[in-house]
Amino acid sequence: MEQVDCVVIGAGVVGLAVARALAQAGREVLILEAEAAIGTGTSSRNSEVVHAGIYYPQGSLKARLCVAGRDALYAFCDSHGVPYRRCGKLIVATNEAQLAGLEALQAHALANGVDDLRRLDGDELKALEPQLSAVAGLLSPSTGIVDSHGLMLALQGDAEAAGALLALRAPVEAVDVMDAGLRVEVAGEAPMTLLATTVINCAGHAAPVIAGRTRGLAAEWVPARYFAKGSYFSLSVAAPFRHLVYPLPEPGGLGVHLTLDLGGQARFGPDVQWVDQLDYQIDAQRADSFYAAIRRYWPALPDGVLQPAYTGIRPKISRPGEPAADFRIDGPAEHGIAGLVNLFGIESPGLTAALAIADEVRQRLAQGAHTV
Ligand SMILES: Cc1cc2nc3c(=O)[nH]c(=O)nc-3n(C[C@H](O)[C@H](O)[C@H](O)COP(=O)(O)OP(=O)(O)OC[C@H]3O[C@@H](n4cnc5c(N)ncnc54)[C@H](O)[C@@H]3O)c2cc1C
Repeated sequence: MEQVDCVVIGAGVVGLAVARALAQAGREVLILEAEAAIGTGTSSRNSEVVHAGIYYPQGSLKARLCVAGRDALYAFCDSHGVPYRRCGKLIVATNEAQLAGLEALQAHALANGVDDLRRLDGDELKALEPQLSAVAGLLSPSTGIVDSHGLMLALQGDAEAAGALLALRAPVEAVDVMDAGLRVEVAGEAPMTLLATTVINCAGHAAPVIAGRTRGLAAEWVPARYFAKGSYFSLSVAAPFRHLVYPLPEPGGLGVHLTLDLGGQARFGPDVQWVDQLDYQIDAQRADSFYAAIRRYWPALPDGVLQPAYTGIRPKISRPGEPAADFRIDGPAEHGIAGLVNLFGIESPGLTAALAIADEVRQRLAQGAHTV
């Protein structure tokens, strides 16, 4: 049996950031990715927004790691030439009844350490975005957009420069907790069995499946998984907006918002549709509900300009109707197994938080170094 120090399962943005952090800390790292390329999962099916950290429950991992991750991400992009734009975002109240919600959101953001939100009245909003119809809003200057694939390539480059190896088409089948370490069974074109000191499960949607196939991990450490699909429609005409535009959040997601890509093309989404399986097909009929949602803040949206674009599926560990679960990072201090870290429910803001999540994993491993 081959021996390796660290195995990272999954080469999405989180797995790559974790591999980079461990390799740069001097560990030997092997990244095992089931697919033929990096970043084909949720990491390439999202809004590519660098979130400021406004929404998440106070004291949650999402809140803390979003704020820390955002700052680390901008610094990383600067030092590695990853394209991004700090374009800012507007969160808008479209009627008087929403003003209290806007105020509560600003107070909530402040408690999360997001202290740069600026309250704008309807005229100030109109001056910034003449097509916008809203009675008041919040400007978040530290929100931006990032080239997620460029980010992942730069993370991979750093990880490999520090000695990490990436194996593609290498799906992990199971893990066994043994006295000598963690035995990892890999299927695919070149099946192999490895003995690792450390295993970080960053398999996104498949993370609970792999945890369920970890012999020696008690069932209480394996969450159920749920899928909340989000569809995006792109705007086939030039976007008359310079900022991202969000309504107030809705249950399960952030509301049908307008984001821009780095080329200036606008897209709307994601909506929230709970589904039973991972099916990324887009249903063009869903555009109907998008027109209505968007016209609440952009009444002049012309007919027939929304084109089906793509979907992403949120890796949920909370059911429909339940409050969204926090990121779950189960390390040795939680489940008691030395060297094993499982990451569950890494939905938004996981792209923003990836570098901070990686740092958190490194710390959890250090804390659990003497736990058996
Ligand atoms: C609709 C939507 C919009 C979002 N928008 C934003 C946003 O604007 N900003 C933001 O910060 N976050 C956003 N997110 C969240 C963000 O995209 C995710 O948190 C992040 O991409 C998760 O990365 P990951 O590496 O954990 O998962 P993934 O990217 O899914 O990577 C998991 C990897 O594991 C691999 N894998 C699976 N099974 C195995 C196996 N058995 N063996 C080996 N490899 C395996 C997969 O092939 C995949 O490459 C959004 C998410 C969704 C769904």
